Amino acid sequence: MIRVGIPRALLYYQYYPMWKTFFEELGAEVVVSPPTTQVVLSSGSFRVVADTCLPVKVLCGHVLSLVGKCDYVFIPAIRSVRKRVYNCSKFLGLPDMTKAVVPESPPILDIDVDVNKGKRVLYQAIYRLGRRFTRSPMKIKRAAMAALQAHLDYWQLMSRQGLTPPQAIERMFGLSEGEPKIHSSRPDSIQATIAVIGHPYLLYDEHMNHRLIHRLEQAHNKVLTPEMLNAGELESAVARLVGRAYWTYEEEVVGAGGHYLQNGADGVIGVMAFGCGPDSLMMDVVRRQASRVRATPFMSLTLEEHTAEAGVVTRLEAFLDMIYRRRKRGTEVCV
Ligand code: SF4
Repeated sequence: MIRVGIPRALLYYQYYPMWKTFFEELGAEVVVSPPTTQVVLSSGSFRVVADTCLPVKVLCGHVLSLVGKCDYVFIPAIRSVRKRVYNCSKFLGLPDMTKAVVPESPPILDIDVDVNKGKRVLYQAIYRLGRRFTRSPMKIKRAAMAALQAHLDYWQLMSRQGLTPPQAIERMFGLSEGEPKIHSSRPDSIQATIAVIGHPYLLYDEHMNHRLIHRLEQAHNKVLTPEMLNAGELESAVARLVGRAYWTYEEEVVGAGGHYLQNGADGVIGVMAFGCGPDSLMMDVVRRQASRVRATPFMSLTLEEHTAEAGVVTRLEAFLDMIYRRRKRGTEVCV
């Protein structure tokens, strides 16, 4: 049986159920790299230039951890999943960059996804990918349909039941070997409701963010994330703040930030990666909106490989103290 490796990094949190279903329907075995550790991060950082963003360094480390464990590594080049809305340039060249910096990687399975080129081109790309496993077009079509259904089920689980991506993946497929049990997102007594916004690969990689969500929940806060909002809520917040989205993942930053600043959160934490161009623009829109409406405290956390756990904890404690005091006394908002 062909084994396909999927790095637990970048778009894993958005698309894993879809990718896994597609490859398994085609008769392959899917192998996921283990959760990020310092060894994974250091090995990835060593392969790329220093100013590469943290999530791409982590991806390289995950590809290295799959060497010898699979026959192929799946790294798609996702350019655009919505008309005239584009992904960050790092995603466009991801398969080529990985080949160049991790030459010992198993052969890379890639696919170009760009909906601006039309459905026919997309279907041909899916067919080319499926041809590595079968010559039957019907089997590839069935696998693609099953994959799409898995993707819809995954997003419904998150938006309707308030699950985070790791919780939804655990619900759909159970825990894989060596994976820690996902903590509950519903503490018994709630001190405050905190929204955490940013890309899923920053919010759910507990090594990169020093267990941010876990810490918030342990302090008896309810945590809200972008995936818990539906498409309409995200789109209307984006329209209010910037008009039309340009970046593919603008909704998880600007949309979620704009929504939670005015609905249902006592505080909003924006998580971004050092060296990320799109995030520096998008998070600034949210920060300005927070200053304008002055309804909800906002804090941004920038992560890089040298970010110290103690620094994250100190900032978090100060932010939470301010929110708890404000809830008690109804004082002025600090942004
Ligand atoms: S959006 Fe930012 S963090 Fe994500 S891959 Fe691009 S540069 Fe890196």
